[in-house]
Amino acid sequence: MIDYHIHTHHSIDAAGTVTEYCDRALEIGLREICFTNHCELDPKRDDSFISFDGEREPFSREGLKRLRKEIFEARDKYKKQGLTVKFGIEVGYYEGIELRLQDIIEGTELDFVIGAVHCLEHICIDSSKECKKYFDQYDAQQLMQNYFMTVEHLIGSNTFDSLAHIDVYKKYGKDHYGNVINNVPRDIMNHIFRLIKENHIALEINTAGMRFMNEFYPAPRLMKMAHEKGIELITIGSDSHRPEDLGKDLTLAFEYLRTNGFNTVCTFDKRKPSRQKF
Ligand SMILES: [Zn+2]
Ligand SMILES: [Zn+2]
Repeated sequence: MIDYHIHTHHSIDAAGTVTEYCDRALEIGLREICFTNHCELDPKRDDSFISFDGEREPFSREGLKRLRKEIFEARDKYKKQGLTVKFGIEVGYYEGIELRLQDIIEGTELDFVIGAVHCLEHICIDSSKECKKYFDQYDAQQLMQNYFMTVEHLIGSNTFDSLAHIDVYKKYGKDHYGNVINNVPRDIMNHIFRLIKENHIALEINTAGMRFMNEFYPAPRLMKMAHEKGIELITIGSDSHRPEDLGKDLTLAFEYLRTNGFNTVCTFDKRKPSRQKF
C-alpha cells in the first residue's frame, strides 16, 4: 500500500513530524509514502509559509532544501526497514505562479509535485472560514465553471505531476448549494479529462473526502467519466494532516479504483511516473 499525499507540521495547518509519520507507516504496513507539504505562493494571500520548529518563515528554495534534508535522512533511515520515502509538495495553483514556482523548486530534487486549486480570486474555497465569501458571489454552475477554468490552466501549465482532489469545491459547496453541486456538466468534465490525458498528468484519488463527507475525491460519477475518457495515470493519497489519518481508507480507495476499471497507480521518482499494478 502507498500513500502519496501527506502533510507534516511543516505545513501550517498540519501536525506530526516526518519520523512520526514514518513510524506510523511501518505500523500500518505501508511500503511507500510521499510527503507533500503545502507550497502556497500567492502574494495576495497570507499563507505562503513553511514551518520549522513551530516558527513560520516565507516559503523559499532554502526552506524547501531544509525540508529535503530532513526527508532524505528519513529516506536513508527507513529504507533498511522496508519503507520507501519520497519527497514531494502540494502546490496551490493560481494563474501566474509558474515562473515563481519554477524558481523555487529548481535544484531541489523533488520526486513529485501535486497541483491543487484551493483558491479562486484569492479566496480559499477549501476553508470553512473563507468559502462563504466566494460562494455568496456565484451560483453552483458559475462556481464549477470558474473552478474548472482554473484547473484547465493548472493542467496546461505543464508544471505538475498530478491533479489533487478534483472536486474539492463540494467539501463546503454541498452545504451551501445542496445536491446541485454534484451536477458538474459532462462537457466540462470531458474536456478536463481529455486535457489530463493529453498532458500526461495523473488524476489523484484522495481519501480525505471520505473522512469529511463519506465520499472520495473524485465522486463516483466523475470516476466513471475518467475511465471512459481513457485516464490511465492515477495517484492515491490520504491527504493526512496528522499521523492518525495516514493511510486512512486506502483499501477502500483501491477497491473503488478496481470497481471503476483501473488496475494501476503511479509512484514517482525524480518526477518520473511508474505504474504499479495492484
Ligand atoms: Zn489540497
Ligand atoms: Zn493536501
